[in-house]
Amino acid sequence: MDTFGLKIIASDKIFYEGRCRNLIIPAPDGQKGILPNHENMVIAVSVGIARLELEEGKWSEVAVGTGFAEIVNNRVTLLVDTAERPEDIDIRRAEEQRERAEERMRQKQSIQEYYHTQASLARAMNRLKLAQNKKWNL
Ligand code: ATP
Repeated sequence: MDTFGLKIIASDKIFYEGRCRNLIIPAPDGQKGILPNHENMVIAVSVGIARLELEEGKWSEVAVGTGFAEIVNNRVTLLVDTAERPEDIDIRRAEEQRERAEERMRQKQSIQEYYHTQASLARAMNRLKLAQNKKWNL
């Protein structure tokens, strides 16, 4: 089967660079699948779980923050603010992030602060979802 070039860039690191067979990304209107030779386009990426098939039948999951995916000539660049493998997620830190964000949600905030808190809460919940699924082998 064909592959395509994939580069996943988070704000603090190049998370992955190599070949990929199939990529599923969380988008505002649902999951989007990218197979080799996909037409060129740009897709918005939401906070969620991206799934990568790097070798046949072997899927990896990554917790991603918001960003976008650019597909040009069978090369995909996924540019996201954060990206974590399940085994790299610090569950305790994610729980604290969630509690902090929930507490801020109960307080009066500017619109800008509100959006910031909402994004932080979404990232924390997403990390917990991915890490806990792995923990319980779901
Ligand atoms: P907050 O969402 O409360 O602002 P933060 O600033 O600690 O939390 P982020 O801005 O979401 O976190 O991420 C900053 C960096 O830390 C990124 O590289 C992200 O991948 C990493 N990171 C954040 N939370 C975790 C976590 N719970 N486990 C592992 N890595 C994390």
